Amino acid sequence: MAANNDTIEQFNKYVMHSYGRYDVVMDKGEHETATDENGKEYIDFGSGIGTNSLGYCNDEWVEAICSQAHKIQHTSNYYYTKVQADFAKELCETTGYSKMFFGNSGAEANECAIKIARKYSFDKYGKGRHNIITLVNSFHGRTLCTLSATGQDVFHNYFFPFVDGFINVEANNIDDLRAKLDDTVCAVMFEYIQGEGGVMQLDQAFVDEIFKLCAEKDVLTIADEVQTGVGRTGKFLCGEKYGHKADLTTLAKGLAGGVPIGVCLADEKCADVFTPGTHGSTFGGNPICCAGGLAVLKEVNSNGFLEEVAKKGDYIRNNLLKIPEVESVSGIGLMIGVKLKTKKAADVVKKALENGLLLLTAKEKVRLLPPLTITYEEIDKGLSIIKDILN
Ligand SMILES: *Cc1c(COP(=O)(O)O)cnc(C)c1O
Repeated sequence: MAANNDTIEQFNKYVMHSYGRYDVVMDKGEHETATDENGKEYIDFGSGIGTNSLGYCNDEWVEAICSQAHKIQHTSNYYYTKVQADFAKELCETTGYSKMFFGNSGAEANECAIKIARKYSFDKYGKGRHNIITLVNSFHGRTLCTLSATGQDVFHNYFFPFVDGFINVEANNIDDLRAKLDDTVCAVMFEYIQGEGGVMQLDQAFVDEIFKLCAEKDVLTIADEVQTGVGRTGKFLCGEKYGHKADLTTLAKGLAGGVPIGVCLADEKCADVFTPGTHGSTFGGNPICCAGGLAVLKEVNSNGFLEEVAKKGDYIRNNLLKIPEVESVSGIGLMIGVKLKTKKAADVVKKALENGLLLLTAKEKVRLLPPLTITYEEIDKGLSIIKDILN
């Protein structure tokens, strides 16, 4: 215990207190299990936070990252590197997009999409068509612009003034969408499944309507797949589940297996909106991160991998629904929200931590984002801990 307290005390002395943290000091990880400073093990049903898509320290991923670090760790984006070119080609071929932009996080990926949408519209139609519709209960990031885009009032405090030009529409309310999608709007931005908002899926009919109206009015669609993307739902992009491809799609969290990356994918229509000097990022496309990303793409694109993700998701869902305390289960694939009848999600997560299982919350729900590579053995171990707590 002593070592733990030392670290926590030192950390809190020198690091700003912007998170409500648990009193656990993580030390190492292997496969789907993390180990703290005291040697206590935790099965991780959260993949860090949707980031460690191949679990902890996957062999091929470690090898890819280490050999890239030995070769070249970074260079200015005024030069080219092969690993960036290879990653971009692989990602575009996987998703069917024309081009991509490299950033370092989900917020940066979304910021990029917002800038592209506004410039696309400005280039074509001039001023006054800069508004972007986002959904109530959405989450798009922590920068001032992406906070402004986020459709939750709790995030719109302290940091005034926020960025203008975001209009909120109620998720799944087609009338509200029709009423607000006027000729001041250049884009509609949405998560197919609102992650932080409580693992809330959009209705197929609502998504269909977004794409129909946007196509009619030359308004861009922006799918924030920072959480739903990279195989999480059993398809590479959650949009495939809905049968739609947005003009712009953003990816981050799990894309490079736990090292920072964020990309904005663009189809032909808006792939060449940026010209030299209009956007950039010092670390965007960091070679080590691209090497990690290539290892993730190789694994996720391997034969039968995504079908397995879907199957594991169904398996977890079916088992959760057998627990009397579980009211309902939402989400797709390995993105799972659990609504409880009487217990508080935060209390369950705390108890699970004590019992050796890492869980997440999303609003009033318990949220599961297990590594895509999780085995049935580990799933069963985790589920039995959940059962013990809920029964
Ligand atoms: C996590 C998340 C973000 C923000 O990503 P960061 O990497 O923290 O900037 C944006 N959108 C969605 C849907 C997310 O889940």
